Amino acid sequence: MIRFVNVSKEYKNGVIALYDINIEINKGEFVFLVGSSGAGKSTLIKLLLKEEGITRGKLYLNGTDITRVPNRRIPFIRRQLGVVFQDFRLLPNKTVYENVAFAMEIIGASPRAIRRRVPTVLSMVDLSRKASSYPDQLSGGEQQRVSIARSIVNNPPVLIADEPTGNLDPDTANDIMKALVDINNRGTTVLMATHAKEIVNSMRKRVIALENGRIIRDEEKGGYDI
Ligand code: ADP
Ligand code: ADP
Repeated sequence: MIRFVNVSKEYKNGVIALYDINIEINKGEFVFLVGSSGAGKSTLIKLLLKEEGITRGKLYLNGTDITRVPNRRIPFIRRQLGVVFQDFRLLPNKTVYENVAFAMEIIGASPRAIRRRVPTVLSMVDLSRKASSYPDQLSGGEQQRVSIARSIVNNPPVLIADEPTGNLDPDTANDIMKALVDINNRGTTVLMATHAKEIVNSMRKRVIALENGRIIRDEEKGGYDI
């Protein structure tokens, strides 16, 4: 589903953020990407999202070589990826329903498809009752669940979450993890970058650890540090 082959990334200022990265993530896997600040986690995600170019190596997504693609094709690549950020990134002037519906409108879904699908995903993240609320009327955990609903509404094969629990208290973070595990159990591949040691240690999922731009560990049922 995701394959990095000998990928390196050097920024224009000469910083080498990733060295010779090899990763293969199969359909349906749940993978934690861990490492201290500056290890290269965000860079790895930016390469997948095509927010940064690749210096060396090859990157494949869902069988397609996305190493070099013309700018006009980038939106089609991004449609394969649901993305959840630490800071939610909801539209403040739209309701919960409208925030999620908007992601479908952008790709040209029919009003009928939107009316069917949005209530389904809101119920998956247990937010049916908040459909008419605005983001500033919601708790942090609820806002993050809206962002998760938005990320999966178009059924992407892969969900990328960059520190999704970073702004949340531990109980709320656990709710977010339940939502992500649910989505993974329905077949979506999940790649989550995180510093949340307790979450990683409690879940015993695959852990890929980065340090100074290199993979130092890739374990099937791993923990945060060992
Ligand atoms: P992490 O997400 O693990 O904190 P990053 O991928 O953000 O790590 O950073 C990896 C390295 O690349 C760091 O040394 C960081 O300073 C550097 N870096 C990140 N973004 C840029 C950029 N746009 N230009 C130059 N260097 C960058
Ligand atoms: P995070 O902690 O989420 O990885 P960072 O604080 O590392 O975020 O980076 C915030 C933004 O600044 C990112 O867009 C990153 O690419 C950019 N950035 C990080 N390090 C550098 C750097 N050394 N030079 C230029 N831009 C950088």
